[in-house]
Amino acid sequence: MEGYLEKLRVHLQRELSKNAVDYLQNGLSLYHRKSFRGNQVVIGTLSIAIELMIKALIAKYHPVLLFKDLPIEIKVLFICPQIVTTGAHWRRFDIDIRSSTFKMIELDECISIFYVLFSKKKQLYQPYFKLLASCRNVSIHASMPSFQNYDQDRTVYLALDVYQFIKDQGVFDVYSYGITKADKAFLESYDTERAERVRRKIEAAKRKSKEITHEECLVSIEGWEHFVTKCPVCNSDGVLEGNTEPWMEATSEYVEETGLTFSANSFKCDECGLVLDDVAELSLAGMKDTYDRSAEADKYFEEYQPDLEDIDIGPD
Ligand SMILES: [Zn+2]
Repeated sequence: MEGYLEKLRVHLQRELSKNAVDYLQNGLSLYHRKSFRGNQVVIGTLSIAIELMIKALIAKYHPVLLFKDLPIEIKVLFICPQIVTTGAHWRRFDIDIRSSTFKMIELDECISIFYVLFSKKKQLYQPYFKLLASCRNVSIHASMPSFQNYDQDRTVYLALDVYQFIKDQGVFDVYSYGITKADKAFLESYDTERAERVRRKIEAAKRKSKEITHEECLVSIEGWEHFVTKCPVCNSDGVLEGNTEPWMEATSEYVEETGLTFSANSFKCDECGLVLDDVAELSLAGMKDTYDRSAEADKYFEEYQPDLEDIDIGPD
């Protein structure tokens, strides 16, 4: 059974890779064609490519993660491949899997699995994946979406970056995409334009901040996915978006120190209008992308850790 399941896993990974690479190639070649001006088609095609790339990556880890509502029998066979079975069950399911009878997971579920597998990439990709999720739905379901070139460039950048990252995980072993000269030129210009874009945003925020006549604005916001910090332009309170993660360090055999780190991925100041869309933009504006919020550790652990005294562990 184990050998058979491995064959099926490889089959799924390669089929998904092949289709992902086809969509990627088509989307990028349309994007580079100067005469072509259809943002919706480029964004839609590359969104599908990115979703399939992540699915190919998930298949490499475990195919059972790819499907919604699999029959319980097939889950047992997938998760316990060492069992001895007559195969009577399996042959029917094998045909169903290969003929796509079972529904695969949606993009948001793919992204959730990706964050568990590669939690360190969350800070970098989160703003891009949020944009991708909204653009994908609009590009596929709306008849007259209005995308900016900026949305399109960010989708192209994400597609190339995700491709390279997933390739490095050994997923595209048979079907792969060769990064072209046009792709390389795009990546270079993307970095240059990003620096210029942030410079323009800061200039605009400075102009607006000169019109502010009231005292510095103080903001209070609840939740572990937001954190308030000073705006680098107008010094008012602005809001970072990101994630709070606990850390623990043993300083000796008996003493453990704990704390909280906030990893920021974007920033918004309502006073001067400064908006920074990702980690690279935070850095270009001179902002940090990690913040210590250990002062709130007690509150965090109270919320996320069960009180051991409340757990009934049975009779003594
Ligand atoms: Zn500001």
